[in-house]
Amino acid sequence: MNDILSLVNTHIRLLTPYSSARDDFKGDADVYLDANESWFDGVEKANRYPDPEAVEVRKALEKVLSLPFEKTVIGNGSDEIIDLLIRIFCKSGEDSIMIMRPTYGAYKVFADINNVRTLNVLLKEDLSLDMETVLDVIREENPKIVFICTPNNPTGKVYSMKDISLIAKVNKGITVVDEAYADFDPDFVSAVSLIDKYPRLCVMRTLSKAWGIAGARFGILVANPVIRDIVSKVKPPYNVSVLDQRAALEALSKYDEIMRVRNQVIADRKMLEKKLLEYDFVRNVIPTKANFIVVEVLDADKLYSFLMSHGVIVRNRKNEPRLKEALRITVGSESENRRLLEVLDEFGRA
Ligand SMILES: *Cc1c(COP(=O)(O)O)cnc(C)c1O
Repeated sequence: MNDILSLVNTHIRLLTPYSSARDDFKGDADVYLDANESWFDGVEKANRYPDPEAVEVRKALEKVLSLPFEKTVIGNGSDEIIDLLIRIFCKSGEDSIMIMRPTYGAYKVFADINNVRTLNVLLKEDLSLDMETVLDVIREENPKIVFICTPNNPTGKVYSMKDISLIAKVNKGITVVDEAYADFDPDFVSAVSLIDKYPRLCVMRTLSKAWGIAGARFGILVANPVIRDIVSKVKPPYNVSVLDQRAALEALSKYDEIMRVRNQVIADRKMLEKKLLEYDFVRNVIPTKANFIVVEVLDADKLYSFLMSHGVIVRNRKNEPRLKEALRITVGSESENRRLLEVLDEFGRA
């Protein structure tokens, strides 16, 4: 594990973490007068500070999602985890991260905020990983963190465990596999199983997508306990609120219902993919393994504006490399999808 610690920024490795009241005393007591909280319970027990280690939710995550308790740490959304990892491992003004574009925009933004360079490798034309170039750039540039998003946003493609393993093997830094959309692919194989073999590989999950609590902010890092402990030490102690943790517990208790909705989303995604192909203004529909559709049209701006002026908001992705005049459309509820198709019909007739 020395190789992990040698990757950590020195000031972080030597950091004395903030010790909260809930760190100083962890047992059960009758009277808590140690944190200057109010005795008055304004909103559903939110008068008390949250558990910094989110023990109860992490136990539920192990039970419901098979994420090993000793390997998990909770972020205020995965976005906070991305920022934490960059701050922990990358020297500002010196180090780099690597991404395979087009992909999730947050990796580069958090790198920019931390004055960390982003190495960009393009996906191949067919939106698969360009492994040869990826490995070359890793060997030449030694990025501190390689972010792999699978299923990828915004292409919806799943990358193979073989490719991910190879990247983790060649990369001397940290390899982060962002599995935000994993729940939407019934055949998905998680990279969590690779952590023991590749201790510098970590996995991110979130309850923002399939689990339906984007508003509560609940991201998960699954990592070797050495990395897990460093992230736990650096994160703000109360980063996930009492209400967020309760929302997570409640969502995780609704597994059957969540899976039912997920299956509906998958069925509706297929239905929409098929319908979209029938329009003359659609040139291509990229099949995805996530809860969105990528559609390449004749004129993305024009369709985007038309949908918007009819109250339907999608994401314009026409400026992404490898995508041509593309819109990314989230699969909605039955009535939302119906409205989308109505407006598309109207656009077709216009
Ligand atoms: C939506 C999304 C997330 C989720 O971020 P949260 O901060 O957990 O809401 C993470 N990664 C990708 C690729 C996403 O698309």
